[in-house]
Amino acid sequence: MLAPWAVRVEESRGRRHAEPPHPYRNDFQRDRDRVIHARSFRRLENKTQVFTRRYSDHFRNRLTHTIEVAQISRTIAQQLELNEDLVEALALVHDIGHPPFGHAGEKALDACMREHGLFFDHNLHALRIVEQFEDRYAEFPGLNLTFEVREGIIKHSRQYSAAEYPQLAEYRLDEQPPLEAQLIDLTDEIAYNTADLDDGYEADLLPLEEVRARVRLFDRFYGEAEQRHPATREKLKFNQALRRMLNHFVTDLLTTTQARVAAAGVGSLDDVRRHPARLATFSEAVDAERADAKAFLYDRLYYSEPLVPEKQHAEQVIRELFELWLRHPEKLSRRYQEKAQREPLPRIICDYIAGMTDNYILEQHRRLCGKV
Ligand code: MG
Repeated sequence: MLAPWAVRVEESRGRRHAEPPHPYRNDFQRDRDRVIHARSFRRLENKTQVFTRRYSDHFRNRLTHTIEVAQISRTIAQQLELNEDLVEALALVHDIGHPPFGHAGEKALDACMREHGLFFDHNLHALRIVEQFEDRYAEFPGLNLTFEVREGIIKHSRQYSAAEYPQLAEYRLDEQPPLEAQLIDLTDEIAYNTADLDDGYEADLLPLEEVRARVRLFDRFYGEAEQRHPATREKLKFNQALRRMLNHFVTDLLTTTQARVAAAGVGSLDDVRRHPARLATFSEAVDAERADAKAFLYDRLYYSEPLVPEKQHAEQVIRELFELWLRHPEKLSRRYQEKAQREPLPRIICDYIAGMTDNYILEQHRRLCGKV
């Protein structure tokens, strides 16, 4: 059962290179499976989300974060009668363009590129991965994903203007993405706003009292957990509050999106695309609670003192390797040297670094910059 405004696989705008249909998997299911079997997807396991492995092996990495986003997104897609296969493919691919070392890595790589009048953007990089870098098929470069998955990669988290990004014109930048893609940015936030409280608490960086004092929603649910299970361990009450918080965000996103679709008189996918604003949103009240949690995490976790040394190290590793390969392109592998014949060297170095796992870039740094 699909809502009238859901994306229908049989109406997909198709792949770049035509392929015969599969006997029992539709095109979005095949896209999802191609993402799962991609090398860049496996590398997410060794890319930092917030905490490096130094903290704990059971904290989220980019792969487990991605799986959590996929789980939340599927639940919502099912309830809203959206195309679950497309939503799953989009969730699984949403972070595939991230460089090593999380946000610090992204910032460092972008800073290196800006010195050459270029920039790094993880969505654009994700598109390059699925269009060019995945090297699996004899018939075509990349994964040859359907238009809707590529469009979702570009449009799920931000608007790119057609004037600034003429190379993206085929994605009809003046149109809203389908609800399947609109969801992803919000489920991403639901996943990390709750998971990062969990890992931050486990890492002893976010004391319970502080979380309660600063995140009103958490405090409310923690209070309820305390009333219901007064004798239970703090960690279990913490978990209970977090679960309730996640459920609260999901339910609000569901009901608000449903109500907005109805109020807008949307009757088709075209109506969603032509609507002046995104229809998948939180309610105003819950959006304020979301912003509250996010602001707390930025202030007390992402920008906190204890995480500074690792972020600085990440920046140093990326900058030193970037500059080394710029001075000595002959130290790049032959494949990348060949690529540098066709595209600017900084772009090639950036692609190379962005694809690396945390482990691999550290190993390269030790080997080439002689650092431990
Ligand atoms: Mg994410």
